[in-house]
Amino acid sequence: MQHDASAIAQMLEAPSSKPKLLVVDDQPINIQVMHQIFAAQYQVFMATNGAQALDFCRVNPPDLVLLDIVMPGMDGFEVCAALKTDPGTQDIPVIFVTAHTDAAQETRGLEVGAVDFISKPVNPAVVRARVRTQLTLKFQSDLMRKLVFLDGLTGVFNRRYFDQQLAIEMARSVRAQTPLALIMLDVDFFKRYNDRYGHQAGDDCLRQVAQTLKESLRRPADLVARYGGEEFVCILPETEFEDAMKMARELELNVRQKAIAHEASEAARVVTISLGVAGNSAGTNSDKASLLALADVQLYRAKHAGRGCVCGDSLSLQRSAPLLNTMP
Ligand code: GH3
Ligand code: MG
Ligand code: MG
Repeated sequence: MQHDASAIAQMLEAPSSKPKLLVVDDQPINIQVMHQIFAAQYQVFMATNGAQALDFCRVNPPDLVLLDIVMPGMDGFEVCAALKTDPGTQDIPVIFVTAHTDAAQETRGLEVGAVDFISKPVNPAVVRARVRTQLTLKFQSDLMRKLVFLDGLTGVFNRRYFDQQLAIEMARSVRAQTPLALIMLDVDFFKRYNDRYGHQAGDDCLRQVAQTLKESLRRPADLVARYGGEEFVCILPETEFEDAMKMARELELNVRQKAIAHEASEAARVVTISLGVAGNSAGTNSDKASLLALADVQLYRAKHAGRGCVCGDSLSLQRSAPLLNTMP
């Protein structure tokens, strides 16, 4: 099978690029020492003051920060505390590297969120081992965070993630007065597919459909999730209703063109999907339940219009779009 490599399998593979370390120290000589210790195994970045370190982490989050405590301006404790209060940087582990360790300092460092302490001058073997341990823990917790939001069968996002993102995107759409679109879709005559080809083939079919949907969405903010069973949903932020209709027709066509044989289907000789599009036009003060309900109604219409087609409507315009069948 060509497209059944799930996102989960991909994530379990080793990271494709070297882990990124940020070394923060006001003394260039100390940075140089760390660079020599780590350059072969890691991408090493450097900052010579706290403000620079924070800017770097916000724009290009490293996998771990080695942080000096005594620096002019912002000291290491302040930098660490700032990293831990920003949701975009709070999961980056911080190791303090300091010349004067005492219990009070160490306690304070752990309280502001550091994971370890290393004393200067550093022993290369010790610092390498401690960094490796912390990176392993970080990659494991990153993976756990992702797995919680992925569907185990298809590797696309799951219902939990979808619910969370739809709430976020809906609030953004209302607040920023930007359009938002939702596509709800369902595989046609899928019970017959399982009956005819077996449950295992049914699972493979769902993986292929999910992969096709994922590959068809182009914008980084677009998202596809498995809503349940053989039903999927796509969130298209900042997308006008008419553009979402175009995207839905493209999804329909792309799944059809996969040409997955389905002899028991009454809609075609291949696997097809029916799609319902719901738009929230810019400036519409709506909520996620109404958008979901509208997408569901439109999907129902598509099923009744013969399946393998797209129906849609927009919350502000309140007009019914014509049935748009992409079948030639
Ligand atoms: P319609 O065209 O009206 O959508 O008909 P349908 O047969 O697709 O719809 P129905 O809701 O009657 O059947 C859905 C089927 O999807 C039944 C269920 O066994 C199957 N299904 C749901 N989840 C999975 C899954 O994870 N794997 C497999 N193989 N089948 C699944
Ligand atoms: Mg179905
Ligand atoms: Mg269904």
